Amino acid sequence: MHQDIDEVLVSEAQIEAICLKLGKQLSEDYKDKNPLFIGLLNGCVPFMSALIKRVEIPIEIQFMAVSSYHGGIESSGDVKIKYDLERSVMNRDCVIVEDIVDTGATVKTITSLLLHRGARSVKVVTLLDKPSGRKVELIPDYIGITIPKRFVVGFGLDYNEFYRNLPYVGVLKPSVYIK
Ligand code: 5GP
Repeated sequence: MHQDIDEVLVSEAQIEAICLKLGKQLSEDYKDKNPLFIGLLNGCVPFMSALIKRVEIPIEIQFMAVSSYHGGIESSGDVKIKYDLERSVMNRDCVIVEDIVDTGATVKTITSLLLHRGARSVKVVTLLDKPSGRKVELIPDYIGITIPKRFVVGFGLDYNEFYRNLPYVGVLKPSVYIK
């Protein structure tokens, strides 16, 4: 285990099992719909990659980069689009792929935006759900695992852009961010 990690919350094996389960579910729900999976960069990268290998139907993938954190451990709730989609979502069934839903502000904002742009449907798949952090009313449609109110890193999740490459999700030692 990495020296800055207190505890592993979701192991590599658990993540693999989650992706297998969600991939199966999405394959059934989106059969014949040619869904557009929209990953929210940068955090979605490992999850998107692991998840789509388990999806057994034709899909397209696109990415958006959004920011709601300013390098700390608290979401600002102010969602900014830093990189936008390159193709239209008009009449498409969209699936937002997110690493974690905390306040809910990010996916709520992007869902409204995609619907406003003419998407036929928008659903959310998230590896982690932290419902205790919720500030807007939102229940993700597909949840990998629900976690307690802790600041976690790994498998895409960062602290000041580090730790995204850890193969598991772990709780960061507070000594790393409380100086
Ligand atoms: P929301 O808009 O739901 O508050 O936050 C979504 C974004 O906040 C996530 O994509 C992620 O970047 C960040 N975030 C929320 N909780 C955590 C956490 O525990 N650890 C890390 N590293 N990022 C988090």
